[in-house]
Amino acid sequence: MDEVFTGNFTQQEPIPEPAIEAAVRVMRHGRLHRYNVVEGEISETALLEQEFAAFTGSAYCLAVASGGYALATALRALRIGAGDKVLTNGFTLAPVPGAIASVGAVPVFVEVTDNLVMDLDDLRAKIGQARVLMLSHMRGHLVDMDALMALCDAAGVQVIEDCAHTMGAAWNGQASGTQGVIGCYSTQTFKHLNSGEGGLLVTNNAEVMARATMLSGSYMLYDRHIAGAPPETFTDIRLDTPNCSGRMDNLRAAILRPQLAELPARCQAWNQRYRVLEDGLRNIPGLSLIKRPGPEDYVMSSFQFRLPDMARDRLQHFIAATAARGVELKWFGADQPVGFTSRHDSWRYAPAQSLPQTDRVLASLLDLRLPLTFSLSDCAQIARIIADEAIKHS
Ligand SMILES: *Cc1c(COP(=O)(O)O)cnc(C)c1O
Repeated sequence: MDEVFTGNFTQQEPIPEPAIEAAVRVMRHGRLHRYNVVEGEISETALLEQEFAAFTGSAYCLAVASGGYALATALRALRIGAGDKVLTNGFTLAPVPGAIASVGAVPVFVEVTDNLVMDLDDLRAKIGQARVLMLSHMRGHLVDMDALMALCDAAGVQVIEDCAHTMGAAWNGQASGTQGVIGCYSTQTFKHLNSGEGGLLVTNNAEVMARATMLSGSYMLYDRHIAGAPPETFTDIRLDTPNCSGRMDNLRAAILRPQLAELPARCQAWNQRYRVLEDGLRNIPGLSLIKRPGPEDYVMSSFQFRLPDMARDRLQHFIAATAARGVELKWFGADQPVGFTSRHDSWRYAPAQSLPQTDRVLASLLDLRLPLTFSLSDCAQIARIIADEAIKHS
């Protein structure tokens, strides 16, 4: 009898008790709106911003309604608007091209490499087309950030980092999201902190932070931020910037603060699970692991591998066989988008672009979630099932 995995790939951990207690305190006093404070009180949202700025080593932080909203706000704060082109990854999640489209801008997709990072040769070829790059650290894989920043700095291209999958990660010891001018994060349930929905934006640029703050819907209450831009930055910005309401509220911030304190331990727990899978799938003929660059401190809450030589119909059969044994693999190569796995050619609001290398990589790419509710022995079992079916289908 073949072994079958019975765990649930979408089951998160419960919200920690101190976070539940903090949420109940907010509900008891009733001041859920971030600017609803009593004399001398600093809101949970403002405290979260201060703590996240410190966590990333950034001067400023703004908490907002979602990761996608943070990305759109970042574009607006750099004054990207209708008709502007924005460079971005050909392989990313739909909210990234969606944020670009939401400000009327046009995505220019850059190819992905076999190791799932932006192809710097393709970026070099396209860099003259835009003044902003929205770089998505898709599935937690960091591109050579030194090379990328050198290329963008030389071309005068500003970098917005989508860190939905790299919260807690670092490049050469510097927090992911702080190499570019703006870093954006998500606190949606499937990311590294869980408030259901939510987003964070960090920058060291006071004007950018002032614009983002006004955009998020601060009214004239921006002095209630403690990790915000200095008041004098707002003199003109407060009148020149539209209010595109998308604040975070104190209930979510209350849930997030205790989780942020636990984040380093959680990152280690994810990486332990990741390494069990990596070890279990090393040296399987036909199965390629993703190579990791030395300067990268990753946080892997998911796992990817490729079966580059397996024919398409064999691959589909392999996916069905692993699913029958309880292992849910996501495939970015299907003809139609399923669940979260849409692809550049499913984003028909953007001009169609030829990305042969990305198409080739995605056709062989398999992806799975690693929720912390999985034990290390669960991960070893998942690896055994994948290895067994990969060998049977090779
Ligand atoms: C989840 C996600 C986002 C957006 O986050 P939301 O909070 O869901 O809006 C952006 N980029 C990537 C790669 C994501 O996975």
